[in-house]
Amino acid sequence: MSITPQDVLRALDAVKLPDGAPLGQSGRVGEIALKDGKAIFAIQIDPSEVNALESVRAQAESVVRALPGITGALVGLTADLPAGQAPRPAPSASSAPTPLRSGPKNQPATAGKQPGVPGVTHIVAVASGKGGVGKSTTSCNLALGLAALGLKVGMLDADIYGPSQPKLFGLSGKPRVNEQRKLEPMERYGVKVMSMGFLVDETTAMIWRGPMVMSALTQMLREVNWGELDVLIVDMPPGTGDAQLTMAQQTPLAGAVIVSTPQDLALLDARRGVAMFNKVNVPVLGIVENMANFCCPNCGHVSPIFGHGGARAEAEKTGVPFLGEIPLHMDIRQTSDEGRPVVATDPDGANAKAYRIVAQRVWERLQGGGGAKAAPRIVIE
Ligand code: ADP
Repeated sequence: MSITPQDVLRALDAVKLPDGAPLGQSGRVGEIALKDGKAIFAIQIDPSEVNALESVRAQAESVVRALPGITGALVGLTADLPAGQAPRPAPSASSAPTPLRSGPKNQPATAGKQPGVPGVTHIVAVASGKGGVGKSTTSCNLALGLAALGLKVGMLDADIYGPSQPKLFGLSGKPRVNEQRKLEPMERYGVKVMSMGFLVDETTAMIWRGPMVMSALTQMLREVNWGELDVLIVDMPPGTGDAQLTMAQQTPLAGAVIVSTPQDLALLDARRGVAMFNKVNVPVLGIVENMANFCCPNCGHVSPIFGHGGARAEAEKTGVPFLGEIPLHMDIRQTSDEGRPVVATDPDGANAKAYRIVAQRVWERLQGGGGAKAAPRIVIE
C-alpha cells in the first residue's frame, strides 16, 4: 500500500520540537505533497526560530527519507504564514548560522548578511518588472557570455512558476543525487544548471505556490553540489511581488541585473524592479534593454519598433548603470526554443556579441569596476 500524508505526519512525531512536543502533532507541518516517492513539505516557524529549528528540519528530512516507499524528502522552514494565522511563540534561539531568513514583512530589509554558498563567489539575480520581456533568455545568454570570459558559471532557475532554463539549455532528465545526498547540477555548454523544471512536472509545480517557494529556492541554492563557481546566475520569477522580494532578501546576492523592454520602461515596470532591490540593499548592477531594435531577417534593416534608447535614458536619469542592448531578432527566439542559445552556438554573430558585451560589463561591475559602487563580496562559510 502506498504511503499517505497521514503516514508521514505520524512518522514526524518521532521528531521533537525544542519544547519536547512531537512535530507531527504540532500543527506546524504544512501540506505534504507526495509524488513519485518524494515527500515535499514545509515547517511553519516564527522568523526568530530559524536557528533553533534548523536541526528539526534536518531530522524531519531524515525521518521521512527512512520511510518505506520514500526515495527523497525536501523539507523547508517557512516564516510565511497562511492568511489569518498568528506567528507562534519563539523558543530560545541558538546563534548557529542557518540558510533561511525571515520574510520582508517580519524583519527590516537587510541584505548581504545571509551565509554565502561555499565555493560560489558571486550570486547575481536576473529580474524583470513583469513577464515576457526576455528575462530567461537574457539570463541564459548572460551565463554563457560569462562562461565565454573563461569564468566558472552556474545557472539557478528560480522561476519556479515557469522554469524555462531546461528548454533554453536543451537539457532534460533528472539530476543525480550524490553520496552526500546533494543534487548534482546538470551541465551544458560549460554551465552548471539547476531548475525546478528537472524535479517536478508542470502540474506539480503549481503546489509550490505560497510558502514553499522560498524553501525550494533555499534548497536549490544550498543542497546542490555547485562546486567552485565565479558567478551563479539566479533567474528570478518575473515581477516585484512579495515572493520576489523575499527571494531577493534571503539570497546572498552580490547584485541584480534588470531586464527590460523599451515599452516596459515607459510603464515603469523596470523601475519597480530597481526599487525592489534597493529596498533590500542589493546593488543593481544595471539594466539590459532587450528587444531594443528589430532586425529584419530578410533585408537586415534595423528599426526601433518599440522606441529604442529608453533604457539608456532611464539609466542615465536614475544613475543605474546601462549594461547594453539586445536586438529583437528571429535567431534569438528560434535558437532559444531549440535549446541552442546564440552565445553558445553562434558566438561570433552580432546577437552573441551583444550578450557578451553585457556579460563583460556585469563582470566588471562585480569586480567593482565601471565607475560603480563595489558589489559586496560573498562571505564563504
Ligand atoms: P521572460 O523570462 O521574461 O518571461 P523569455 O526569456 O521566456 O521571457 O522570452 C519570452 C519570449 O521572447 C521567448 O519566446 C523568447 O524566445 C523571446 N525573446 C526573448 N528575447 C528575445 C530577443 N531579443 N529577440 C527575439 N526574441 C526574444
